Amino acid sequence: MELTDQHQRTHRSLRISIVDKCDLRCTYCMPEEQQFLHRSKLMTREEVRTLATLFVERYGITKVRLTGGEPLVRPDVVDIVRDMAALPVKLGLSTNGTRLHLFLDQLVAAGLKHLNISLDTFAADRFKKLSRREGHAQVMANIEAAIAKGLHVKVNMVVMRGVNEDELLRFVELTRERNVHVRFIEFMPFAGNHWGRGQVYTYAEMLGRIGSAHAIEKLDDDPHGTAKTYRVKGWKGTFAVISTVTEPFCGGCDRLRLTAEGKMRNCLFAREETDLLTALRRGDDLSELIVANVRAKHKMLGGLPPFQPDTQQEVLHGLSERPMVAIGG
Ligand code: SAM
Ligand code: SF4
Repeated sequence: MELTDQHQRTHRSLRISIVDKCDLRCTYCMPEEQQFLHRSKLMTREEVRTLATLFVERYGITKVRLTGGEPLVRPDVVDIVRDMAALPVKLGLSTNGTRLHLFLDQLVAAGLKHLNISLDTFAADRFKKLSRREGHAQVMANIEAAIAKGLHVKVNMVVMRGVNEDELLRFVELTRERNVHVRFIEFMPFAGNHWGRGQVYTYAEMLGRIGSAHAIEKLDDDPHGTAKTYRVKGWKGTFAVISTVTEPFCGGCDRLRLTAEGKMRNCLFAREETDLLTALRRGDDLSELIVANVRAKHKMLGGLPPFQPDTQQEVLHGLSERPMVAIGG
């Protein structure tokens, strides 16, 4: 296969989903009737370590983020964090925060420094509607506990029109006195989440709303990052927008992904996957598989067409069959 710039780009960041289960059922991420994998299909702790080590030592990965499903429902999550912290990488973990109080001290002792916590609303009844479960007060308390513990905390909010965009400024307030980093994520289409372009509260709208309330300044972005970062002048924390839908950043993306059952994906929206775990269990050499997967990366959005203002999920025929919960955000 001929190499293009896209193929030659070095991928530095690996997202590893360590479980496909979750204790919440967020409407934008997981269908209520989701089937989960049998435990024997998941990567074991040792297999996660073997694959991550290979990516770090041979393919230049310098950042690892553990995700899911909900990583904190996996009983050996602290051991996995300890294994990853022993690698020469910047290590992060994404969580919904419901179970963080059970693990916070152990995670920090195991070497975790960067935590992304999802929170879409300050209202308990809205949380219940959005996540189809209880737990709001615990998540709120756990965010404060993580900040107090000295972790680098990002709070991720999926912003949806008619659902929670009215809380945008309240989220920005989090950054006034706290060194916390709020990230507003445009609502993205995945299998079974009933996405429509009209429900996307856009980057431009977010910036307009925040800019009309506060004096904001643009900060430098990581050229390979996904977020466009800002600060309210004089405030301690920052806020950022992940504009996958209205301003995709595919050109700079340096991410690769492993699903909980060890399938490699070169894009969040990829339709093709490479089964590394079966090959590993057979004792095969993985290099050709990994290189071919990277080479097959599409230039934009995993080969999906740009999300035009009138696009509905039904017309996105190329969409992966996986819901977000089984990909790992
Ligand atoms: N359970 C963990 C959590 O909620 O943070 C980790 C997995 S979750 C799939 C990772 C991130 O993906 C979360 O921040 C979540 O809000 C985000 N996410 C899920 N579905 C999304 C969608 N349709 N559009 C945008 N972001 C989404
Ligand atoms: Fe679970 Fe996170 Fe998906 Fe919500 S966003 S259903 S917490 S994996």
